[in-house]
Amino acid sequence: MDGLSLPRDRIDGLDRELVRLLAERLDAAREIGSARGRDPSAPLRDEERERSLFAAWARAAEARGVSSYFAGRVLREILNWSRRDQERFLEPRQENGARAVRVGYQGVPASYSDLATGKLFATRTVARLERVGFRGFAAVADALEAGEVDYALLPIENTIAGSINEVYDLLGARRMTIVGEEVWAVEHCLLALPGVRAEELRTVRSHPVALQQCSKFLDGLVGVRAEAFHDTAGAAEAVARDGDHHAAAIASEEAGSEYGLAVVRRDISNQPVNLTRFLLLARGAEPCDPRRAAKTSLLLSLNHRHGALLECLKVFEAHGLNLTKLESRPRPEAAWEYLFYVDFEGHANEPRAASALEALRAHTNHLQILGSYPRRVEEGLELAGLGRVPLEAAAPADAPAQALPVPACPAPSNAALKLTSLRAGQARTIVDVSGVHFGGERFVLILGPCAVETRAQMMATAEMAKRGGASVLRGGAFKPRTSPYAFQGLGFEGLELLREAGRAFELPIVTEVLHPEDVDRVAEKADILQIGARNMQNFALLKEVGRARRPVLLKRGMSATIEELLLASEYVLAGGNQRVILCERGIRTFETATRNTLDISAIPVLKSRTHLPVIVDPSHAAGRRDLIVPLSLAAAAAGADGLIVECHPNPAEALCDKDQALTADDVARLLAALRPIVAAVGRKL
Ligand code: PEP
Ligand code: MN
Repeated sequence: MDGLSLPRDRIDGLDRELVRLLAERLDAAREIGSARGRDPSAPLRDEERERSLFAAWARAAEARGVSSYFAGRVLREILNWSRRDQERFLEPRQENGARAVRVGYQGVPASYSDLATGKLFATRTVARLERVGFRGFAAVADALEAGEVDYALLPIENTIAGSINEVYDLLGARRMTIVGEEVWAVEHCLLALPGVRAEELRTVRSHPVALQQCSKFLDGLVGVRAEAFHDTAGAAEAVARDGDHHAAAIASEEAGSEYGLAVVRRDISNQPVNLTRFLLLARGAEPCDPRRAAKTSLLLSLNHRHGALLECLKVFEAHGLNLTKLESRPRPEAAWEYLFYVDFEGHANEPRAASALEALRAHTNHLQILGSYPRRVEEGLELAGLGRVPLEAAAPADAPAQALPVPACPAPSNAALKLTSLRAGQARTIVDVSGVHFGGERFVLILGPCAVETRAQMMATAEMAKRGGASVLRGGAFKPRTSPYAFQGLGFEGLELLREAGRAFELPIVTEVLHPEDVDRVAEKADILQIGARNMQNFALLKEVGRARRPVLLKRGMSATIEELLLASEYVLAGGNQRVILCERGIRTFETATRNTLDISAIPVLKSRTHLPVIVDPSHAAGRRDLIVPLSLAAAAAGADGLIVECHPNPAEALCDKDQALTADDVARLLAALRPIVAAVGRKL
């Protein structure tokens, strides 16, 4: 391919330059880290400075025609790693300079444990890092106890497979202290000898958990047998060693490189987000700089007494300690007795935690601190694509606003609204969607197209939404259309595109589900399930989303009363799903100047009758672009918890609802107009 070599040479040169600049930048950041290490009163983070960095990057990027969003993501990666790198200066100082360190893990080189070890120690100052693979978790623990290794790195849980019981049991049985944690984003690949095509395969080898995590992909490979192996990288090694052209392994891409295998297919997990948490274990505790966010793990056994576990949990609540995990394991020596493993945020030395531990002793038979260590799970959220990138400098702090008067709370008028009604003194429900809180202090903006049309349209709209201040991305994959000849949506293919765009811009996604039988499949990919106006009283569908483990955005039917909307939500709550967001989207009246009539009074009425969050859809209410801003302002002023608004990079060409779609400029105007109103009702945008 002549003609490509020149630009490729240029790219290679630029890439080398980028790496050189990264190294230089890290060096400069280390000077700051070292100063922070010497001054224990210096804060570890300067958020003001970070915000101005993001703003400066965004401006510089835009000036050169580079997407400020893309630049922001790159900067966030750089800052994350810089911060991590600076933590080396917080580690306890070693008398004779950096020492050589041996770390034991289960598996062979390039196993996920080995990769996580590399990541964890990349930002620690060690003279030499030796990674020693063992067969089995117990063998790693043996080596640690015997002093053959300085540390052990063991996986403790996975976001798909759950807890790793064997490791929990080892924590309880062995003399090991937790001194750190690490998160690794697992990206399974199908690996085979170079040149082998998927059609030629007869067996796929991997660890049973990995096989299970890729079951859907494997089901699609006809005539291929899955073969359990003791670990993923070991399976890759075996495929390479056997030289078998009909065998493949599921393991990391790194394992492929390590053993000379090629990637046949990438990204084959059932679930795109697949994170494994590892614990770093040592023989004794290590000091942890008090400025670092810490976590503590405990092991407890309880009195065999009524309410004993509850008493323990109450202690955490009373001390304001946030529990992050509770796991129980049977005690083999005592039938029907359990050991509880508890993780909470904070260091055991902090006064609050120390006093909680003191109080816990009274309620336990046995209480053991497994370790206090720097926390790493936040990073896991970013790896899962759920981190947040500030796209623009945050608005200056607003003058304290008067909170909106809460309507009086009448007694529930309908006895059937058992779960939906707001009772006197009851707290309002905050629906948490991957860190976006509906019904909380922040006013939530959902933006996106009426319908998912193409990848390019979806990516462009997602960027628009992100820049427009959205924290959730909307897009219809299944469209309920009045005419059977109108565009019906791209279906599951559209859902994939929506998901891809949401992940690229780190926005959770909401999409409508039309059929009860689609609920599970849509719930696999969508962060919020939307029930459209036309389906508000589709009781089979309401029951089905009531079973789903995803929040539901329930739109008011165009001829439904508020009471009927509340009863529809009762169906979902009664099904077990407590995460319902109500949406006023305009109702049918005699008025024809607008598509529907936005019922502003529904907002305070709903707020007085239910604890559920309420948002407003001005787009389907008005049907006209020019009314979206005024209706949005009215909704915010009346106490709505957020908005769902349609936008499109090129409304004239939209396949659905083109007259109501906002352009990028309209979205910017909406955001600017909303700021003072949202502040005036005591909320943040
Ligand atoms: C939509 O939000 O895509 C939609 C179809 O809205 P509604 O159900 O309110 O008509
Ligand atoms: Mn629409």
